[in-house]
Amino acid sequence: MDRELTVREKIELADDWIAAVKRLNNKNKVTYLGRRRKDVNPVKWESIVHADGLDVCPLCGQPFCGKHQMHYADCPCIGPNEDDVIYHEDGFRARRIKNEQID
Ligand SMILES: [Zn+2]
Ligand SMILES: [Zn+2]
Repeated sequence: MDRELTVREKIELADDWIAAVKRLNNKNKVTYLGRRRKDVNPVKWESIVHADGLDVCPLCGQPFCGKHQMHYADCPCIGPNEDDVIYHEDGFRARRIKNEQID
């Protein structure tokens, strides 16, 4: 290889690290934000979303999630009483046991 590796290629070669890479707009440009060891695997908590903190749908009056632009009942936000959810002891945060993307 007779050229400098791009940042992205270096990241991909460093296979014992996970890179934090962010795509910028539609330019397909990557920004190198730093990296961390794979085995750290930090737990990501989400804020618990309560139905009474949301707006209501003007069509049917159900709680409506502005973040996901759908009814609260159908959106992936974590509510206060869900199965397959671990609730943080602080009472404000939770995470799904299976870290699946629902949308
Ligand atoms: Zn509705
Ligand atoms: Zn939502």
